[in-house]
Amino acid sequence: MEFSQYDVNALLQITNRPNLVFTEGRGMWLTDHNGKRYLDYLQGWAVNCLGHSPQCIVDALASQGAKLINPSPAFYNEPSIRLASMLTANSCFDRVFFANSGAEANEGAIKLARKWGKLNKSAAGENRYEIITFNHGFHGRTLATMSASGKSGWDTMFAPQVPGFPKAELNDIASVEALITDRTVAVMLEPVQGESGVIPAQPEFMQALRALTKQRNLLLIVDEVQAGMGRTGELFAYQLSGIEPDIMTLGKGIGGGVPLSAMLCREEIAVFEAGEQGGTYNGNPVMTAVGAAVLDELLKPGFLQSVKDTGAYLRAELLKLCDRHGLEGERGEGLLRALKLGRDIGPQIVEQARNLEPVGLLLNSPRPDLLRFMPALNVSRDEIDQMIAMLSAVLDKIGR
Ligand SMILES: *Cc1c(COP(=O)(O)O)cnc(C)c1O
Repeated sequence: MEFSQYDVNALLQITNRPNLVFTEGRGMWLTDHNGKRYLDYLQGWAVNCLGHSPQCIVDALASQGAKLINPSPAFYNEPSIRLASMLTANSCFDRVFFANSGAEANEGAIKLARKWGKLNKSAAGENRYEIITFNHGFHGRTLATMSASGKSGWDTMFAPQVPGFPKAELNDIASVEALITDRTVAVMLEPVQGESGVIPAQPEFMQALRALTKQRNLLLIVDEVQAGMGRTGELFAYQLSGIEPDIMTLGKGIGGGVPLSAMLCREEIAVFEAGEQGGTYNGNPVMTAVGAAVLDELLKPGFLQSVKDTGAYLRAELLKLCDRHGLEGERGEGLLRALKLGRDIGPQIVEQARNLEPVGLLLNSPRPDLLRFMPALNVSRDEIDQMIAMLSAVLDKIGR
């Protein structure tokens, strides 16, 4: 099929896409409308934690779909109860609210924190509602989560923005302390900043943040939409620093590719009253059945250790690539890693890698001088070797 036969203009233009239509996916591989295959290091944007169309997800969709699709959020359903119990049993949280996207889970966290701030007023008796977030952070594309994000320009793009999100600097505890006022109710951050180029919060910073928020009676909210669900080699990224946050949001990997997200909190913070939070599709049995199937895989003995080992292997191979091609270095946690190119050749590499023949390579360049790698968590060493060889060929062609 020719690309020109697709009427892509029926779609609202929201981003520049290459002239490719993907038709099939299996594991680390995607196939386009011409039958060309691509080694996929995007995986739906760090979403397909078990690769494309893993059997456990196909089975969960089929069997739950045949049984019950949606009894409405006004009633309990079995898969959502099962997944919530699995999440609370394996984390420091007691309660789970399911949603459909990372942004929606974060909206839930913001609403919960503001509600808690109404019940836990300042010394002067005022509602507390300000949530300190971070420059270069990313929390989603709704109005509130855009305001919470620290991407430059995002505060004015669809002005007026949602107020109440002063910005601190990651890994700078003094910058957080300086922003605390009588209105502050919480601090919210990504334990590893993803979209800004894979910048981990230092464990000492996370520990200092936990101590500071406790001391000042503030909530600590971790946005683990990208870094959670085994991506770093720990089930949750907060475990890297040994702290216990008050609220956590999950997305991306939790559904293994289907729209599912979650907001988790400790019992004392579960202050929503009936009618204050909800959503038509929230916690529907099909998506939560998939989530349970995904989490079953992540919890199998040895799975998270294999993410750590494979992450270390990817890191070592990226460092070799740096030596060979004079690149600046690499950073990240587990299988969320970035390669520092030292110059603005990221978009050029992405394009040339995709155009390689006979098989292409799909890469992401969140910043022009950076490549980000977010493979399936069960990527093989062979698939890492293939990616490195293809990337090396592209770097050879671009030259120094
Ligand atoms: C992707 C992402 C989001 C937004 O998730 P959506 O499902 O796109 O709404 C929020 N926070 C972080 C850290 C993310 O990486």
